[in-house]
Amino acid sequence: MNADNSELQELYRDLILDHARNPRNFRRLEDATHTAEGINPLCGDKLRLYLIVDANDQVIDAGFEGSGCAISMASASLLTETVPNLSVTEADACFNSVTDRLTKQSSNDTAPATADLSKLKALDGVRTHPSRIKCATLAWHALHAALNHSPSSATTE
Ligand code: ZN
Repeated sequence: MNADNSELQELYRDLILDHARNPRNFRRLEDATHTAEGINPLCGDKLRLYLIVDANDQVIDAGFEGSGCAISMASASLLTETVPNLSVTEADACFNSVTDRLTKQSSNDTAPATADLSKLKALDGVRTHPSRIKCATLAWHALHAALNHSPSSATTE
């Protein structure tokens, strides 16, 4: 990993920019079973996350709509690529894993083995920019709120 850090950082920046410019699953799911809004007033990021969960508590589709900075949009885009085919429990574990990773210096990995969180390393750069951490975790807070049927608005505050 430490072979060429600058090259890695470059790669991750490209991944963030790619997802921010071309967000994956940027669509409203009309038949969503779970939905929540995420608002980060500090930056002006606002998004709504849609999930379709089947009778077996399996996430089968995810989408989002919204507007905000590149990091918030890229994080939401990565989220919608990460959670399909996970169980509700596994998806919620991803929320814990991602928020722990970005808010704590040490990362004991709590990610479910079935989830591929490797691309989310792209978000690790925000650790050195504390004001952007909320941008990166916003979509994951919305995921947590949606899965737990919290009132429809999640805020990073
Ligand atoms: Zn932001």
